[in-house]
Amino acid sequence: MTENRPVRLQAGHHNLDPHLDRYAARTAGMTASEIRALFAVASRPEVVSLAGGMPNLAALPLDTLSTQVAEIIAEDGLVALQYGSAHGIPVLREQICEIMALEGISAHPDDVVVTVGSQMGLDMVTRLFCDPGDIVIAEGPSYVGALGSFTAYQAQVTHVTMDDDGLVPEALRDALAQAEKHGKRVKFLYTIPNFHNPAGVTLAVERRAEILEICREYGVLVVEDNPYGLLGFDGQTYPALRSLDPDNVVYLGSFSKTFASGLRVGWVLAPHAVREKLVLAAESATLCPPTLNQMIVSRYLATHDWQGQIKKFQESYRERRDAMLTALEQHMPAGCSWTHPDGGFYVWVTVPPGVDTKAMLPRAVTARVAYASGTGFYADAFGSRQMRLSYCYPTPDRIKEGVRRLAAVLESEMDLMRTFGNVSPRTISGPQNPSPDTA
Ligand code: PMP
Repeated sequence: MTENRPVRLQAGHHNLDPHLDRYAARTAGMTASEIRALFAVASRPEVVSLAGGMPNLAALPLDTLSTQVAEIIAEDGLVALQYGSAHGIPVLREQICEIMALEGISAHPDDVVVTVGSQMGLDMVTRLFCDPGDIVIAEGPSYVGALGSFTAYQAQVTHVTMDDDGLVPEALRDALAQAEKHGKRVKFLYTIPNFHNPAGVTLAVERRAEILEICREYGVLVVEDNPYGLLGFDGQTYPALRSLDPDNVVYLGSFSKTFASGLRVGWVLAPHAVREKLVLAAESATLCPPTLNQMIVSRYLATHDWQGQIKKFQESYRERRDAMLTALEQHMPAGCSWTHPDGGFYVWVTVPPGVDTKAMLPRAVTARVAYASGTGFYADAFGSRQMRLSYCYPTPDRIKEGVRRLAAVLESEMDLMRTFGNVSPRTISGPQNPSPDTA
C-alpha cells in the first residue's frame, strides 16, 4: 500500500507535516471541528459568541466546594490522590443510580462505568462496536463530538430526519431498511432524546417505545446520550430510553451540565453483558478515571442540595432562552425559522434558501457575533442553511445584542442575494471585506 502514501517530505518543507506518511489510515477523517477552529476568534471580548456550548457555572457554590476539596485531601488524601479502579469509585456509582432513577431508570451500580466525561463514553462505545465501514445511525443534525468519534473509528454515519418532536420513527425505519437492502451493517442508533444538541428539540414520549421497537426489529443497539435530561426549564423529565428497554440501550450520562464540566466526570450504563468489555476499554484508555474528581462529585452530591442547584441552572438557562427567542422574534428577517427548546442550551435556526451559513460566518464575526454553522453537525455536506445558536453562556443582554447583530448580517446577505441574483455571496465578498456595520 506504500505506493498510495504521500511522498516522504524533504527537510525545509516547514509548512507540511513530516509525519504525513506515518499516520494510521483512521486519522484521514480527523479534522478540527468548525467550532474549534472558530474558538480563538469567537472568544475575543468584543465578539458575542453564540457559538460555543460552555455551561454557565456562575451559580456554583465555590466557597463550599473549596472547603470540601480541602477536606477530602485532609481526610482521605492518600486515597484521593492514588490510582483507583477503571470501574469508578463504588459510592459514586451508587449515587449515579439514584440520579438516573429520576428518569425512570432502575440500575445496579455494578453496571455503571465512570468515564472522563461522556465524551469518553462515546469513544469507548464506538471502539467496542464499530469496525471500519459499519454504519451508525444518528439524528440529522447531531452532536459534533459524537460525529468526531464515529469518524475516528471509520464508521459511516447515516442521518435520520427530526421534526419538532425529535427523531422521526418512519425515517428511522426507512434508513434501516435501506441499509439492510444494500447489505450494510448498522451497529447502533446514536440519539440525544432530550433537549438535543444542536437541534434543541425533545423526542416525544409517544415515539420512544416505537423507536426502541424498530431498533429491536432490525437488531440494532441504541446509544442514548443524555447530558441535558435534568435541564428542563419547568423541571420536567422524560422517561429514559434505557428505562424502557434496559437490555438494548447503552446510556451515557454526565456531570458536565448539571455540576462542573471541568471535573470531566461522566458515566456509561451498559447492558450487563457489555459492562466487562467497557471496563477493559476504559482501563486501556485511562487506567482509571481521576479519583479526586470522583470524590469531589460524590461529596457534593452527598452534602449539597444538588437538585436545588440544578433548579438554579434551569432558571438561569430559561432566562437566557427567553432572551434569545424574544430577540429572534424581534430582529430576524422574514424567511428564517428556529426551534423553541424547553430545556438545554441550543436553538437551531434555518435561514432562507441561498444563504450559506458557513460562507457568512467570517462576515458575522467581523460584525462581532459568532455562531456555529450547520454543516459541522452533519457527516455529509448538509446543513448549509442552518446554524446553531447557544444561549447557555452569555448574559441575556449580550444574547439580545448578538441576535441583533446577526440579524443585520443576515439582512445584508439577503440584500446581496437580491442584488446579484443567484450568485453565491461567497464569491461576492469574503472575510477580508469590511463588516456590514461599516460597509
Ligand atoms: N454529548 C452531548 C450531546 C454533548 O452536548 C456533550 C458536550 N457538549 C457531550 C456529550 C460531552 O460531554 P462531557 O464529555 O463533558 O460529559
